[in-house]
Amino acid sequence: MKLHEYQSKKIFERYEVPIPKGRVANIASEAKQIAEELGGRVVIKSQVLVGGRGKAGGIRLAKDPKQAKEIATDILGMEIKGLPVRKILVDEIVDIDQEIYLGIINDRNFRQPVVIASSSGGVDIEEVAQFSPEKIFKLAIDPLLGLQDFQVRDIALGIDLRREYWKQFIKILRGLYRAFNESDATLAEINPLVITKDKRLIALDAKMIIDDNALFRHPELMEFRNLDIEAPAEIEAQKYGLSFIKLDGDIGCMVNGAGLAMATMDIISQFGGNPANFLDIGGGAGTPKVAAALRIILSDPKVKVILINIFGGITRCDEVAKGILSALGDVKTNIPVVVRLVGTNAEVGRNLLVDAKIQTAETLVEAAEMSVLLSNGGAS
Ligand code: GDP
Ligand code: MN
Repeated sequence: MKLHEYQSKKIFERYEVPIPKGRVANIASEAKQIAEELGGRVVIKSQVLVGGRGKAGGIRLAKDPKQAKEIATDILGMEIKGLPVRKILVDEIVDIDQEIYLGIINDRNFRQPVVIASSSGGVDIEEVAQFSPEKIFKLAIDPLLGLQDFQVRDIALGIDLRREYWKQFIKILRGLYRAFNESDATLAEINPLVITKDKRLIALDAKMIIDDNALFRHPELMEFRNLDIEAPAEIEAQKYGLSFIKLDGDIGCMVNGAGLAMATMDIISQFGGNPANFLDIGGGAGTPKVAAALRIILSDPKVKVILINIFGGITRCDEVAKGILSALGDVKTNIPVVVRLVGTNAEVGRNLLVDAKIQTAETLVEAAEMSVLLSNGGAS
């Protein structure tokens, strides 16, 4: 699991690695407010899980809160290397004297954590590694012994760090190593670690990757799961209490009850079709929930047909029908909808759907067969 800069900084902070003052924001007006709190001048940083944000225009300085809002608006509308910017970090501006690179990775060749450091940090560390490898200092750490004092000194010497900064540097490297170790990270990186004009060392950027296999040991990191890179449809579904799992096929399914949903998917497969999702609206779903479910299914561009299979018990078929009509009123679509309604108020429900462009089926088998045919471009 890759962590965003703001999330990695939160972890660094716990290990006493100094970071700039700042906060994450979702909307531009928040950026303005944070800028006011921080005294005006801020840097606005897109939070996307790719490197090179600076070069892509995703990191910009603002001279006052008004400009912070403008830049935040711009950046929140950006896509960086294909990823939409959903969050920005608004940090105080730091006046930089020097940029250092400091990272720890799990090195598969060494079979140990390796500290990597360079006096030439900043945005082009890959180029430094390629063209001036002598400027990159590496040192393996025995995980049983941990990071030794002499090693920390070796690294400081290795990057020609002036003595006056050693005390701060040692504390940062120790903190970084602990953060790396205790989080079960495979990478913990500060690029750049800056020396400010007023002689402080600060982690200006932060990046961590956590070993997914160790996530179960870190319930505290679960809140960092990147909801914005999860399917937005699944987040929307959670909001309405729908159980929704996106799949790869093209037949959207809306069913009440997990067992019936699985049976529906099985029957679709049996006829040679592919379900686009699992969706259980649960028992007793009312109109808004049904409408949300249909909107979520329709938001998948792969969906060619929708199969609605409702076995009305506590779920009332007329409520379901109203939900379908409501969603189809909101989202104009040409996608054919096949409905099988049986049980409570089925008759009323079916009558409500007569006028809409909906095909009704008597049995699940019939409905599934119809859907598969339609998904293959069959006559509607
Ligand atoms: P990356 O491009 O995704 O690695 O993003 P970084 O957070 O590393 O920022 C890229 C560059 O922007 C840094 O190397 C700095 O030169 C510059 N930058 C970021 N924050 C500040 C700041 O507070 N003050 C100044 N002067 N420059 C900054
Ligand atoms: Mn960086």
